[in-house]
Amino acid sequence: MADNQPSESELSAELDALLARTRPERVVVVTGAGISAESGIPTFRGPEGYWTVGSREYHPEDMATEAAFSTMPREVWRWYLYRKGVCNAAAPNVAHEALARLEGALGERFTLVTQNVDGLHLRGGCSLARTIQVHGNTDFMRAVEGDDTPIPIPAGVPAIGRDEPLSDEAWELLVTADGRRTRPHILWFDECYNEKLYRSESALAAAEGCELLVVVGTSGAAAIPYHVAAVALKNDAAIIDINPGSNPFSAHAVDRAKSGKGLWLRGSGSRWVPELVDKLTG
Ligand code: NAD
Repeated sequence: MADNQPSESELSAELDALLARTRPERVVVVTGAGISAESGIPTFRGPEGYWTVGSREYHPEDMATEAAFSTMPREVWRWYLYRKGVCNAAAPNVAHEALARLEGALGERFTLVTQNVDGLHLRGGCSLARTIQVHGNTDFMRAVEGDDTPIPIPAGVPAIGRDEPLSDEAWELLVTADGRRTRPHILWFDECYNEKLYRSESALAAAEGCELLVVVGTSGAAAIPYHVAAVALKNDAAIIDINPGSNPFSAHAVDRAKSGKGLWLRGSGSRWVPELVDKLTG
């Protein structure tokens, strides 16, 4: 090829060679917004991410914060109920489904760490036990004060169109059974990971014991994929990055390719995840 990028058939052959060399038993897969982009859920990069309140335009990094929630809780809820509607209207794609097949084959030797809040891995067939949703899930809420166990958003709360207001009826439903106000079950940009709500320690423990780390569709902007990769690579795991664009994980993969333990599958999740799973389970 003109720019010296390997062809798809060359990448397939390199994938065969890496798997034959490393024969991974335990696999950790980290996914980001890119794996759901082909299901029609926008990543945070596009114009769909913006949100207007009054005359002001907000970025996701402004809306998805405890600071925003504490000053305009109804607007933040409105944004999340809109996003929940977008997620609920989307369907899992072949990449989500392939990862469910991988879980079926590997059982407890498989761990999925997803930054996505769309629930598509669960709807695609992965189990809650093997899926660590490190940033939460738009289908859940939890009390602002007291017991903060996540609970499903009541079915009576309607999806909201982009320019629709949040009705008083819906607002009144966003409470716990004993009447406490709730918030979306989402890790916000100004908050910290923790084991109880987001199983972040479990994600790192899985990384500690894996022989293969697969990263799909993440730009590497959030902290936990970074730490998961650091732990896995420290323990000499192989790394495969699936992403059409370069990112910190593709850089690691290219670097470790020199010792036969890295591969950047430059392309989409739907192109490469099913093939990788077929080869791991074949
Ligand atoms: P990001 O938006 O920062 O980056 C998306 C990455 O996906 C990019 O590296 C891009 O090159 C890649 N990509 C685009 N299309 C792809 C495809 N078809 N196949 C594979 N890769 C593809 O996403 P991020 O790293 O996940 O970080 C964004 C944060 O926003 C996360 O914390 C996440 O919780 C949240 N978020 C979640 C969703 C969701 O749940 N679906 C959507 C938007 C944002």
